[in-house]
Amino acid sequence: MNKGKLLIVGFGPGHFDHLTERAREAIRESEVVVGYNTYVDIIRDLLTDQEIVRTGMTEEVSRAQEAVRQAEQGKKVAVISSGDAGVYGMAGLVYEVLIEKGWHPDTGVEVEVIPGISAINSCASLLGSPVMHDACMISLSDHLTPWETIAKRIEAAASADFVIALYNPKSGRRVRQIVETQRILLQYRSPGTPVGLVKSAYRERQQIVLTTLGDMLNHEIGMLTTVIIGNSTTFVYEGLMITPRGYQRKYTLSKEIQDLKPHQRLQVEAEPWSLNAFGESSGKFVKEQNIATADKRKASVHPASLAHEALSVLQAKGLVETGITTIPFTKPVSIFEVAVSPGVANKIITPEQLVLLAEIAGD
Ligand code: SAH
Repeated sequence: MNKGKLLIVGFGPGHFDHLTERAREAIRESEVVVGYNTYVDIIRDLLTDQEIVRTGMTEEVSRAQEAVRQAEQGKKVAVISSGDAGVYGMAGLVYEVLIEKGWHPDTGVEVEVIPGISAINSCASLLGSPVMHDACMISLSDHLTPWETIAKRIEAAASADFVIALYNPKSGRRVRQIVETQRILLQYRSPGTPVGLVKSAYRERQQIVLTTLGDMLNHEIGMLTTVIIGNSTTFVYEGLMITPRGYQRKYTLSKEIQDLKPHQRLQVEAEPWSLNAFGESSGKFVKEQNIATADKRKASVHPASLAHEALSVLQAKGLVETGITTIPFTKPVSIFEVAVSPGVANKIITPEQLVLLAEIAGD
């Protein structure tokens, strides 16, 4: 008997333009397609003469068991998930069912997981570029995960300033989770933090709403929505949600010739925020940052990397001595970043705000 095969397919957000070639091929070459009703409908046009096993929403376990059973009979079985099958999809469950049966990759049925575009990616692309920096995904569904665990993760992600993509934010039965999530997030982020709500990305009823953390609950959020919460640097420009990667720390994007020449750009002097800039005592640095001690260490700064406005304000306050590339700083990161980031000063901070920040740093 032929050894069967399980093809675990992520078909992306929903439009065939965003379905990978391998996913298309896998569905085509399979003899059986196993999936949730709605998902089978989405890929219907790709089906030829495959046997279809379709079940309802809470039937994932029986779906996975059936897929394994059919593969063990020697069939090629495609198990379909929206987005990526490894992100709150069927991949993990199929493996768990196999493992329960004592499956071994060399001797048991063959398994291929075919990656797809997950909602965090498809939704982000419709909003602008909100996931440009460190981000995480949190599912608000507490059907399988204790709420306490979810709340802890929201808090950790919020406090560490991650961009957060919330999957399964709300359903007919689960309406409180998103309210509680907003409450936790507001302890760490300002109500003005940009938030993107994308419903049915790349599907017929696609809807994109740009809102804020404070206001997001006044908009429709449902089972088909992904909520993307910006980090502390995310901003909105012409209806687009953008999270900077940090280029403005080092470059002036409006200038063609950069102050820092290519050979200088990776030097430690040009990256005073880097781990190497703190020598061997990096572990200590992190700890001290956390408890916000008034640390009098000095950081070397390349004069060229200082924002013009920042430099003059800091000079006026006696915080920078001209020609000497050292800035004393007490409460590092925020004021420090303003001082060394040409673009930040150019774009967001007014001279008045800079004066205020310099005064705070002085204290
Ligand atoms: N495996 C999927 C996630 C399944 S969990 C993936 O990788 O994308 C179901 C949740 O995914 C939904 O509640 C919603 O938050 C999100 N989601 C899936 N497809 C989406 C789409 N086309 N548009 C917006 N959100 C989507």
